[in-house]
Amino acid sequence: MRPIQARISIGAMAHNLRVARSHAGSARVFAVVKANAYGHGLSRARRALTAADGFAVLTLEEAANLRQMGVEQPILLLEGIFGADEIAACAELDLWPVLHHVAHLDWFEQRPPARPLQVFLKFDSGMHRLGFPLAGHTAVVARTKSLPGVAGITLMTHFAQADEAVGVDWQLQPFLREMAGHGLPWSSANSAALQRYPATLGAWVRPGLMLYGASPFADMTAAELGLRPAMTLQSEIISVQTLQAGEGVGYGQLFCAERPMRVGVVACGYADGYPRHAPTGTPVLVNGRPGRTLGRVSMDMLCVDLGEHAAAGVGSPVVLWGEGLPVDAVAAAAGTSSYELLCALAARVPVAETD
Ligand SMILES: *Cc1c(COP(=O)(O)O)cnc(C)c1O
Repeated sequence: MRPIQARISIGAMAHNLRVARSHAGSARVFAVVKANAYGHGLSRARRALTAADGFAVLTLEEAANLRQMGVEQPILLLEGIFGADEIAACAELDLWPVLHHVAHLDWFEQRPPARPLQVFLKFDSGMHRLGFPLAGHTAVVARTKSLPGVAGITLMTHFAQADEAVGVDWQLQPFLREMAGHGLPWSSANSAALQRYPATLGAWVRPGLMLYGASPFADMTAAELGLRPAMTLQSEIISVQTLQAGEGVGYGQLFCAERPMRVGVVACGYADGYPRHAPTGTPVLVNGRPGRTLGRVSMDMLCVDLGEHAAAGVGSPVVLWGEGLPVDAVAAAAGTSSYELLCALAARVPVAETD
């Protein structure tokens, strides 16, 4: 069997949820499990995160799957409904849609659910992606309250820079100021806001990334945040080559040896979800010790420098990210984010579940 494998730890996810809760105070916690639980598997995440107060997903299908698995907690549809035809299913499955556009209010009027639903009313406080403009809040809240299909409203916004130095205040303060008069519960915090800005807590928090053991911050590691990696992507060396000075390796011959050296060929490529744009020098662990990639990542293989790994050969284990090598470090080297790497784990990679 091809030796690549993703080990996914139920215990790490459960631990990370406890860390999230320790920051959340009296706020309730939606475990964000969109995108197949950031690549970790919806069913697996659901079992690891049973202690969550609710789950947040993107699609009706994910929500229906969670209900089928026996989830009884509230389920939030983060992007709401994509047509009036989805309202009936929301009522059937007791889902809480985010309403973020006037079209949603129109749909609720045209096709009211069989029973009134809890909704999250999303306002745009500066991200300019989804949400009603803050300026029109009085009319929007009044109209939503008047809808017979709405049982209760939680006000919501989302931060564009919670993970950066500029932070959340430029969005949070206007949001809280405009929403203050409504006397309604509210929700704003993602992983970064939850861990850094207690003022963002509100009634519900919405951590995603941290549950999987990655850090949203460039200046703080997941370990420093008390998080444990939930996914370890590992494989093995399947061939060893010896390059002479002046010889290159792989497509494009992007890496060229300056002196004779041993190169390990690892069974992991971009078709497994490893980033093709990871340059020479991207960190790996060979036999548990730090190493680096060489040259261009190909579809099914990548190359690593065995110059400092004299004992390594065919069959030696290589960790691409996870335990011992933060996915954030690999993402930084490859010019991407841990979000993208985790979500991109390919379906062809066999998964082993661990405690
Ligand atoms: C994905 C998402 C989250 C979770 O964000 P993380 O940065 O992964 O914690 C929270 N809120 C909304 C609206 C989202 O779409």
